[in-house]
Amino acid sequence: MKESFVHQIQKRLTENSKLFLSDGIERLLNQDNGNEDYINPDLLSLTCTSFQISIELALKSLALERAGLKSILNKKYENHSLDELEDLFKNNNIKTSEFESVKNFVKSKGYITDLARGDFKVIEQFQIYRNRIVHFTYEFEEIDLYDMKYDLIYYLIQIIFKILLSNQHQDVKPSEFLAYSLKNGLHSQLTHYPPYIEAMERVSKENTDSVFKCIVCNNRTFSKFEEYCYCCNFITEDFKTIDCVHCKETKSVIYDNLNIELNKNSARGLCLNCDTDGMIYQCPVCEFAYDNEIEFEKYCTEGNCVNN
Ligand SMILES: [Zn+2]
Ligand SMILES: [Zn+2]
Ligand SMILES: [Zn+2]
Repeated sequence: MKESFVHQIQKRLTENSKLFLSDGIERLLNQDNGNEDYINPDLLSLTCTSFQISIELALKSLALERAGLKSILNKKYENHSLDELEDLFKNNNIKTSEFESVKNFVKSKGYITDLARGDFKVIEQFQIYRNRIVHFTYEFEEIDLYDMKYDLIYYLIQIIFKILLSNQHQDVKPSEFLAYSLKNGLHSQLTHYPPYIEAMERVSKENTDSVFKCIVCNNRTFSKFEEYCYCCNFITEDFKTIDCVHCKETKSVIYDNLNIELNKNSARGLCLNCDTDGMIYQCPVCEFAYDNEIEFEKYCTEGNCVNN
């Protein structure tokens, strides 16, 4: 019973965190052109605020999950029993701690292992923006308005996700998380928003050595080793890959081998690294495949498997 009441609060915090995240992203995508220019200051103010609230709720949800309800409540509740707290909660009469103290608590406990020291600096910077926006006004310099458009998305990907994902206990990629958590259609809209694409190009390069062009979204955000596109979520599990004879990259030529035998064991292939296409022949006996236009008859051919 007690557990369910605390669990209920945690669920609500996480859901509301996602709600503010969706709200911020939706407004940003609907009102900003995505070009390399300034962001409208009012839009920036509202987006910063939505993201800041989202992060605050995500941090509270995480602290609650790891350290219990009292970790996010005002000191004055220290001696309250869970029953008393539940009553206060039901009467909408419970006060949570300030953002600052929850943030410092989570930071001191090291709950988010992949959140770097620099990330906390970014959180603090956004906190300053948000407080000034809400309480006074924040006068953004022109250069801020240019940079912030990109910084906002970085903030979103690097920080809010890490916090929201850290209490999911599973390995979910940012774009998978977005696709499942945001309102319908928002994620696919994001994959056409240049600041998001740029951020994902950065994230994919940070995570993997070989990044290829994705055949679905056309951005250079496809991780060869993870076989996954950081921008649009495309995964290659239904496709086959072979080495490229042109650029010499390994496993970079992708082709669809479903029903390939109905098409003389051939299919068009495309190198995700150098963008060269070719005709791939896949041996029906040993399944070895190669570019038939370049390495003609060097390997298995129709009716003659060299590996058998
Ligand atoms: Zn993609
Ligand atoms: Zn190639
Ligand atoms: Zn063969």
